[in-house]
Amino acid sequence: MTIKIFNTLSRKIENFKPINGNEVKMYSCGPTVYDYAHIGNLRYFVFVDLLKRILKEAGYSLYQVMNITDIDDKTIKRANEKGVDFHEISLKYEKIFFEDLEKLKCSRPDLAPRATDEIDFMSEMIQFLIEKGYAYERSGSVYFSLASYPEYGKLSKLDLSKVKVGARVDVDTYEKESPGDFALWKGKKDNEPSYKMPFGEGRPGWHIECSAISRKHLGEQFDIHTGGVDLIFPHHENEKAQSEAFCGVKTVNYWIHSEYLIVEGKKMSKSLGNFYTLRELEDRGFDYDSVRYMLISSHYRAQLNFTITGLKAAESTISNIKMFVQHLMAGGEGTVDLSDMVREQEKAFFDALMDDLGIGNALSHLFIIINNINSADPLKVNAATKEAVIEAFTRFNTILDISQLEMTESKIPADVNTLAQERHQARLDKDYSRADELRGEITEMGYIVEDTPEGFILRKMDE
Ligand SMILES: [Zn+2]
Repeated sequence: MTIKIFNTLSRKIENFKPINGNEVKMYSCGPTVYDYAHIGNLRYFVFVDLLKRILKEAGYSLYQVMNITDIDDKTIKRANEKGVDFHEISLKYEKIFFEDLEKLKCSRPDLAPRATDEIDFMSEMIQFLIEKGYAYERSGSVYFSLASYPEYGKLSKLDLSKVKVGARVDVDTYEKESPGDFALWKGKKDNEPSYKMPFGEGRPGWHIECSAISRKHLGEQFDIHTGGVDLIFPHHENEKAQSEAFCGVKTVNYWIHSEYLIVEGKKMSKSLGNFYTLRELEDRGFDYDSVRYMLISSHYRAQLNFTITGLKAAESTISNIKMFVQHLMAGGEGTVDLSDMVREQEKAFFDALMDDLGIGNALSHLFIIINNINSADPLKVNAATKEAVIEAFTRFNTILDISQLEMTESKIPADVNTLAQERHQARLDKDYSRADELRGEITEMGYIVEDTPEGFILRKMDE
């Protein structure tokens, strides 16, 4: 299966082709571990998880590296505010970050190096860049010279005429309106951790971290680099410049970025009080599956408007799908054969995913199955249709991974089913005392029967 994917570098949807046969090497910018991840951060990690699952579905083997930013402007600032060592802050939030990933069913990267464990290689890169004239030292810091690298600006479509020659920026994040020579190494300051290197004592900037970790663990060239759109400039532009100056080749073939998440139509910010973490949503009574479904179900290149109403809708969508399957399995065996329809929609689901991760389209095929079977009456479909649904939904769930939708093999015994159908008929005939009698028999056999607008649902008592 060929995957089509939007490459930020070309601003086009391209056919994905790995450098080396079936093996995909992917670098994902990881978290800065100074606080709880908010729902916007989590959207990005769920997008990365979706991409990984689709690559695997398409038959690729995947090796993913993700950095843990444990030393940067933010972790140091937070540690100083709290009066503790920055490792104390970063280790705490790194642990919480991986717990959040697990709760949202996002698989861990194959390798997740911490920035502080990779400083020697960052230093090697910086020395090389100084020797080759791409970088220079000034007042204890080392800067990347934009003038030395004519390719600068291609990823973020930066207007280079705005660059003031010789202007320097010391912070890790800044606006596109003020580009300049950026810091690879920040000279030692009071109240900041520092490392002694041949070019001076100090600490690495954020951008060199990703260049060094990706080069060291994935080689000079790799297939995919992911990040949120907010990282295109300056982080990825700077990373690209450093990596390509160091390696002498185009290092990344596909730059893939996920869009922003906004909350109730507004930019998320602490001052607006619309800053949700996974824990806060949990405290409000939402389960992780609903959060995962909500984050995964909108296209990665569309802005996602996170609302509590939307999260409730995700919750009820999941329970509707679950009810549908239960209802279908509980009914007897009819004669209507919709198995071909189910298989066609199953194929269409995966075709949609291969087309630039078209999750919305994919999900519409799941709902077509539900609607078609509901209009035909789930109690009337045959065994082949049921089997096809189980197969299709099991495969859908390798992507969605919603625990509530796991297809268990809990087949309802035929005699229990017959009793339930007799009871259903008795109710239709308004023979309620007979219906109650039959319910008693079903209960004695260890099953619970529930009435629904379409018919009934049977389930085992301990489930
Ligand atoms: Zn990065």
